[in-house]
Amino acid sequence: MTLDLIEIKPRLNVKKVIIISIIALLIISLLCTSIFFGIYHHMKNVSIIENKIVNKSIPTHELYFSDNAKKNLIVDKVNHIYNSDYKRAFLTFDDGPSKSVTIPILDILKQYNVKATFFVLGSNVERYPEIVKKAYQEGHYIGNHGFTHVYANIYSSPQAVLDEYNRTETAIKNAIGNQNYNSRLFRFPGGTAGGKYAQIKTDAVNLLNQNSIAHLDWNALTADSAGLTDVNAMKTYVEKTIGNKNSVVILMHDNGTKKGTYELLPQLIQELQAKGYVFENIYDLLK
Ligand SMILES: [Zn+2]
Repeated sequence: MTLDLIEIKPRLNVKKVIIISIIALLIISLLCTSIFFGIYHHMKNVSIIENKIVNKSIPTHELYFSDNAKKNLIVDKVNHIYNSDYKRAFLTFDDGPSKSVTIPILDILKQYNVKATFFVLGSNVERYPEIVKKAYQEGHYIGNHGFTHVYANIYSSPQAVLDEYNRTETAIKNAIGNQNYNSRLFRFPGGTAGGKYAQIKTDAVNLLNQNSIAHLDWNALTADSAGLTDVNAMKTYVEKTIGNKNSVVILMHDNGTKKGTYELLPQLIQELQAKGYVFENIYDLLK
């Protein structure tokens, strides 16, 4: 009997040990899994919160430019804007802001969640500062198109270009209520190419670059400034100029008479999306 008991005891213990071990293993693995997922979710939440903070502060490229080494990068980045290994489209609007056209454009952009770039005219910024502020707060990039748009004034000398840039920049800062803002991005009225003031423009490009200010023309357009008002004609024109380009910078206008521009905009956005283009603005370029 005694021997039997002695023999049975170890058998029972082995069974117990195996069962307890299995239970212990199950508990440990359950604990590990829950700890892992707990940490994972915590990390995920932290990164979502961080992203929200970053996204919330996206219209603060002034932070980007506060790094002195980086402020020169905008010239290089914009100079290479047409090089891209994926399809991207930059919608750009010149000569605004205006009540009649900029406001409907902002509404459409919001509806499609597209961020654009506005090259504002200093004289119009002083007239409608609240519209510039709205565009800025909605995440659009505010670029600089000079103050007067009068060629004889702005192209009287390279320094005159810089002076109009600075005057407009001051108007933008006041409009958006941010004295640290610096667009560092200029669009030449009429573009940089050729014409009567070709040499002054070339010299002005160099002067701007010396001051870490980039300039941007375009490689596609709706021709809304060249007299086209018919939406279908504008659509045909812009499709032709977009062609098979991978990276398109599309010139449009948002001054007071360009009703056709916002009438075309929803179609243009949908068509570009269907062709696989992603919409970017200058903030994306500086990321
Ligand atoms: Zn213009």
